[in-house]
Amino acid sequence: NRQWRLARRPVGDIGEGDLEFAQSPAPQAGPGQVRVRTLILSMDPTNRIWMSDAKQYMPPVKVGDVMRGVTLGVVDQSNADGYAPGDLVSGMWGWQDYATVDVAKMPLAKLPADRTLPLPGYVALVGGVGMTAYFGLLDIGRPQPGETLVVSAAAGAVGSLVGQIGKIKGCRVIGIAGSAEKCRWITEELGFDGAINYRDEDVGAALDRLAPDGIDIDFENVGGPIMGEIFARLRLNARIALCGLISQYNAEGPVQGPANFEQVLMQRATIKGFIILDYAARFPEAMHDLIAWHAAGKIKYQTDIVQGLENAAATVKKLFEGGNTGKLMVQVADL
Ligand code: NDP
Repeated sequence: NRQWRLARRPVGDIGEGDLEFAQSPAPQAGPGQVRVRTLILSMDPTNRIWMSDAKQYMPPVKVGDVMRGVTLGVVDQSNADGYAPGDLVSGMWGWQDYATVDVAKMPLAKLPADRTLPLPGYVALVGGVGMTAYFGLLDIGRPQPGETLVVSAAAGAVGSLVGQIGKIKGCRVIGIAGSAEKCRWITEELGFDGAINYRDEDVGAALDRLAPDGIDIDFENVGGPIMGEIFARLRLNARIALCGLISQYNAEGPVQGPANFEQVLMQRATIKGFIILDYAARFPEAMHDLIAWHAAGKIKYQTDIVQGLENAAATVKKLFEGGNTGKLMVQVADL
């Protein structure tokens, strides 16, 4: 059984040796347990949060433990009622080929028997990132037709879906992303109304040009100076769905507070942080709509798939370098 374990807590960017690749015999399912074989490992910015011992929304991964990660796989041994070999399931059993799971303690979500998407679609569209885009935008952003929505990390897994849901809801959508090709993709292929390449444009000047009347909704994935430029242009009663702050997950020391924060006050804006796990009871609602929109050609998802569990530690770094377009994942094994 190949496993990635947290060898030490990274300081700054994830470094060589922070994660170690180890081998151990494959575990056997005990009473009440199933054994799963990993097919896909999702690569998520929150992996970096879990590697740190900063105050967070779940316990940090302990040094020496298998790295936590969102996974999709197949049951290959079962001593638990309701699960049979061959069942496709998703869970969080981590960066390894095989795991045993006590399903009374950690239930595994079964993929529908009438699958309509290829397997990566269950990570990229109706997995955690789809849920995040859907509830963050609809519940917190509360988009109204004609409003202006700005989304950062717009060519990433969450951002690319947020912009398309915003279009479905009748918003004018501006995306901020880190390359000309990403900007081309979100405007020409996903239907965003405008895009800003923050690496070679002045974000404030570009927002003035593309959103001259200001911003009603900020779907915030990044934080830092980009968020500050958005705050400066909030409209009255704006909503800020605070989804992520990826620009500071690798920070080594204290992080500066947001620029132009006073505009949250002046414009009577609402800012709400959220963690998608809290919406679990409502996931079926989002899955239903996302699948229907996808079938109707109203929403597309993009996958960025790297082969081989051995490449996971190098792959997760791509999230912090802008090396991915759409949902980044590792294909660990074939079905
Ligand atoms: P993405 O697929 O969007 O990948 C991350 C992207 O962020 C990169 O491709 C890069 O794109 C951009 N980025 C990285 N560093 C910076 C930086 N310093 N400044 C600006 N942009 C940067 O990842 P996800 O879609 O999985 O996640 C997006 C955000 O959503 C993250 O903040 C994540 O933590 C958050 N999230 C929150 C959840 C919740 O429950 N609240 C659940 C899931 C995700 P580029 O080339 O444009 O720089």
